[in-house]
Amino acid sequence: MLTLAGATLIDGTGRDPVAGAHVVIDGARIQDRAPSGRILDLTGLTLLPGLIDAHVHLFGAGHSLGDVTAGEVSAAEVAAGMFHAAGRALQSGFTTLRDCGGADGGLVRAIGAGLVPGPRVLVAGPILAQTGGHGHFGPTFGGGDSWAVPGLGRLSHICDGPDEVRRAAGTAFRSGADFLKMCVTGGVVSHSDSLTDTQFTSDEIRAAVGEADARGTYVTVHAHNSAGVRVAVEAGARCVEHGSDLDEETCALMARHGAVLVPTLTAARRLTEDAAKVGVGTDIAPRADGVEASMARALRTAVAAGVPVGSGSDLFGGGSWSHGRELALKADLIGPMAAITSATSVNARILGLDGRLGTVRPGATADLIAVDGDPLTDPGLFDDPARVVLVVKDGRVVKDTRRLLTP
Ligand SMILES: [Zn+2]
Repeated sequence: MLTLAGATLIDGTGRDPVAGAHVVIDGARIQDRAPSGRILDLTGLTLLPGLIDAHVHLFGAGHSLGDVTAGEVSAAEVAAGMFHAAGRALQSGFTTLRDCGGADGGLVRAIGAGLVPGPRVLVAGPILAQTGGHGHFGPTFGGGDSWAVPGLGRLSHICDGPDEVRRAAGTAFRSGADFLKMCVTGGVVSHSDSLTDTQFTSDEIRAAVGEADARGTYVTVHAHNSAGVRVAVEAGARCVEHGSDLDEETCALMARHGAVLVPTLTAARRLTEDAAKVGVGTDIAPRADGVEASMARALRTAVAAGVPVGSGSDLFGGGSWSHGRELALKADLIGPMAAITSATSVNARILGLDGRLGTVRPGATADLIAVDGDPLTDPGLFDDPARVVLVVKDGRVVKDTRRLLTP
């Protein structure tokens, strides 16, 4: 039994902070009881639910995207990069990640078995991409499919027509996918499409949705434009990634269908800031021009339409590990409390783990973090892992820079 006492609690629901709160942990769960067991004094800190990043790519993390897809990074380095990225995310206060393409159930098992430290990870397995569409990485003229390291990960599965989509979905589920990810428009990091393109037909998307439905899960779509989002949402996709250009009509459609939006401001910012560090070619950087600004507009349009907004960094490639930057960037647009709620309770709902993750309440999983400062006045602190002084995952203290457990 462990009691976290004295901190100001922000519980992830959007409710006002509570000063001098106490949270009792028994095993892996939060309990409704008086302080008992070991008591950690968190006076002066802010206590929050463990953060959730709903859009990451651990496969290839830390390496130049160009190098990995060209086969210039060894399997050992790719594996080490994945484990390193997972460990750093946990140390940054992210106790749960949703991997939107590349990693498979092997990574989930390695972390779950305690072989490597890391957050709980839900994976899409290989992204479903159409021939020549976003996600079809690999040599343009050298033939070949998409980047994969057999037994370790696979970035995408190229499929055309409902039957191939169905087979690709089955392959993803067989490799441990918790949900499906499908690219329904062009992307920023693409060589053979435009952001305004739509990809996959309604029938193809319905095929993926049918396979996901049959397994009690959902399809999320990579989408940058309204036309692609409308086709996907009408075909049953439940979640939209990026959404960098969404009009009012499309946001209203999303709201009617109960679809959610996961903007990825960090990725847009990184590509304009330093595309070379991410490891994409010089032809890619201009494609990111204006994407962050239009994504910010789309985010506001979605909020006004009543679309729930989650939080994803879309960190990929080399040069950055800061999952928390997404909260800092989003706080500038919709305020710090809404940014926190999007990365906690809204993300938990997107993951299908509503009430179990992303909130601090009796019965919920004991994933908690304490930060040094007030994130409502200083949301930039999420961008600095050193400000995250305590991380508890599944009731176990996994980071404790103030040595509260060993006074
Ligand atoms: Zn992504």
